[in-house]
This record gives sequence, C-alpha cells and structure tokens, in this order.
Amino acid sequence: MEPELTLELDGRAYAWTGEGWCAAADHIQPPAAIAQRLNALVRELNLERQQRLVSHVRYLQEIGVPYRGVQARRGCVRVTYCWRCKHDLDNRFDDECISCGWILCGCGACGCRH
Ligand SMILES: [Zn+2]
Ligand SMILES: [Zn+2]
Repeated sequence: MEPELTLELDGRAYAWTGEGWCAAADHIQPPAAIAQRLNALVRELNLERQQRLVSHVRYLQEIGVPYRGVQARRGCVRVTYCWRCKHDLDNRFDDECISCGWILCGCGACGCRH
C-alpha cells in the first residue's frame, strides 16, 4: 500500500499531496497559515518521516518509476545535499530509496532518473 498522511485541524481533515496540503473534503488548498500549522503539527507528532515518504512516492509517480520502498542506511555514513532542492542530507537520519540507494530528501527526490 502507498503511504498516506492525513491530519485533522479545527475539525477538518487535510491530506499531504507530496507538494502541499489539500482539504480532504474538497481538495482545496488551505491558506498559508493553515499549512504552517499543519507542518508544525507534523513536527510535533514526529510524522516527518511519513511526510517525506508521501513526497517521495509523488516524485516517483511524476518520473514514472514504480515505488519499491525505502530502507534505513546500509553502508557507510554519507552526508550530501539534494540535487533537486540543494537541501542537506544525512543518511544517519534520512531513509534511502531501495531502487537507487540515494538518500531521500524532504522534497521527495532520490536519485531515480537523475
Ligand atoms: Zn530535495
Ligand atoms: Zn530512487
């Protein structure tokens, strides 16, 4: 099954699409203030890993690569940065894509099709 992330805020459910939040009921993007509160909630509930996973699946869908899952670090420690958004990456904390072995970024990118 594909990973999902849905949170409830002020009695409304919001789903993480991989790029942003949308209301589960009408798929409308909430205002920035709501999105910020949802992101704060993600940190508070320690759901960042799940959020990253959903973003990763979305990235793979965009480039047409099947999702095979992620794994914790297998080899040596690697500290690098994301080719797509230049964010710092560290496989002591971040999962790796099973298909390409690259470290997953919060933007969803791995090394598949790079
Ligand atoms: Zn990135
Ligand atoms: Zn990959």
